[in-house]
Amino acid sequence: MTDCLKITADNIATAAGVLANGGLVAFPTETVYGLGANACDGDAVAAIFAAKQRPSFNPLIVHFADLDTLKQHVHWTPEAELLAQAYWPGPLTLVLRKQPDSPISELVSAGLDTIAVRLPAHDSARAILRSFGGGVAAPSANRSGQISPTTAQHVIDSLGARVDAILDGGPCKVGVESTIVGLTDKPVLLRPGGITEKELAQTLGRHLAVRHK
Ligand code: AMP
Ligand code: MG
Repeated sequence: MTDCLKITADNIATAAGVLANGGLVAFPTETVYGLGANACDGDAVAAIFAAKQRPSFNPLIVHFADLDTLKQHVHWTPEAELLAQAYWPGPLTLVLRKQPDSPISELVSAGLDTIAVRLPAHDSARAILRSFGGGVAAPSANRSGQISPTTAQHVIDSLGARVDAILDGGPCKVGVESTIVGLTDKPVLLRPGGITEKELAQTLGRHLAVRHK
């Protein structure tokens, strides 16, 4: 049986312990419920792909509680700084070059030399990330191809016992996924989302290329 945990300090600590032991924890963010695993633990990351039946070539977003920890894993750029100042914590994901010595599992990036990173704004997401301390790979907590979950019940319906624990923080506010911006070369909008192309272009003072799937 999957533990469905209300948001309390004890349960946040329990959920962080599950992550530290290689388990999978679903937790609310401001966009949708994420299915989290320790991003540095290859077996735990592999368990995300297995639970979601997600193809291994589709890379994951890594979530952090604070900018200093996040910066240890990526090649930080002035444009990343501008966007981080404007939108983090919040529903924006940045794809940056990975630091060669980063211990984040290669499975997370599906073999690319980049990683997608984000600082979520949701209080419960931040609490579990802070308690865990490191990067948490977390795609949406649903089987691949199904609609992204915005309640704990959606997670149970889609993934059931494949999740070790679910933190139930009520319905998510945004309900759409994070906007993804690539910053490995000229800025490029890789996925539309909560933050618009116009807002991003204004913040960067330049046009963004658009490359949606
Ligand atoms: P999901 O977490 O299921 O909403 O999906 C994460 C999205 O981030 C997918 O569309 C991935 O293609 C994208 N993504 C994750 N990592 C990278 C990366 N290194 N480069 C480009 N896109 C990425
Ligand atoms: Mg998804």
